[in-house]
Amino acid sequence: MKILLLGKNGQVGWELQRSLAPLGQVIALDCGTAFGLCGDLADPVGLRATIREVKPDVIVNAAAYTAVDRAESESELASKVNGLACQLIAEETANLGAWLIHYSSDYVFDGRGSVPWSESDAASPLNHYGVSKLAGEQAIIASGCKYLIYRTSWVYAARGDNFATNMLRLAREREVLNIINDQVGAPTGADLIADITALSLQQALKRPELSGLYHLAAAGEVSWYGYAQYVIGFAQACGEQLVVKTINPIKTCDYPTPARRPLNSRLNTHKLRDSFSLHLPDWQSGVSRMLAEVLDK
Ligand code: NDP
Repeated sequence: MKILLLGKNGQVGWELQRSLAPLGQVIALDCGTAFGLCGDLADPVGLRATIREVKPDVIVNAAAYTAVDRAESESELASKVNGLACQLIAEETANLGAWLIHYSSDYVFDGRGSVPWSESDAASPLNHYGVSKLAGEQAIIASGCKYLIYRTSWVYAARGDNFATNMLRLAREREVLNIINDQVGAPTGADLIADITALSLQQALKRPELSGLYHLAAAGEVSWYGYAQYVIGFAQACGEQLVVKTINPIKTCDYPTPARRPLNSRLNTHKLRDSFSLHLPDWQSGVSRMLAEVLDK
């Protein structure tokens, strides 16, 4: 089996290089050109030619425009990478009779209420990143290709720029941190996402009726404030020398950003767990492993 992996150096893409390897030959691209193959989602001509040249059985798209605030001012580029490129990839996937694996976001929802969002709930993004991610999902679903779309949330990895690694850096630099306490979700490891991808893809290849949209997040929930407390508490318990003395909980409205963000990012993962008989561990276990790796403990 031939797998074309796009976005190989992102948090999820990096872990997918590992988890997909036992499934077949993985041709992994970043956003540049290598060996005449183009992995740039903003280059439709190069991307289409690459897919036609490789003729993969599975395309795994871990590439995305993920700068949520910058997407407000670069909406055209965000839409090109997260929306239009998905349409192109999905068309080519359908023509090949292949599978398309893709990732989307809790930010397709408006964050109302406190009930975890199900796949059947109406999406209504608050920011342009969410709009562009929703456009990507819709293009894939409309294309008629076989697909697995995983909506995930609050992704972290030891190798990556994410909330947890930012908190460790800030805790070494500042005495006081003000962290949002009214946005709630589940930190989800790129390693877990990559493992679930490989396990569910293996099942879907044998059972095409599993093609669909799934919510994929670690179990449990926490606010950014609670997440920061956990990260910093773990580092302190490991004997890490930190400058931080106080962590203050603040409201979203007290921390204005270019992009609005949903308060309720909880994702209901029943469909994924039931369809593939998979278990999703609690968020703390994955975060602890990642912190132990980052802190070399
Ligand atoms: P990262 O930002 O870590 O990785 C995205 C990758 O895409 C980077 O390697 C980036 O390269 C690459 N990329 C950006 N623009 C292009 C382009 N034009 N062509 C090709 N590659 C490009 O994201 P994650 O691994 O965290 O996210 C994986 C998926 O999960 C994405 O679909 C994202 O939308 C989704 N998701 C992520 C969340 C998060 O908290 N991070 C939350 C919910 C969903 P470079 O670094 O060189 O720009």
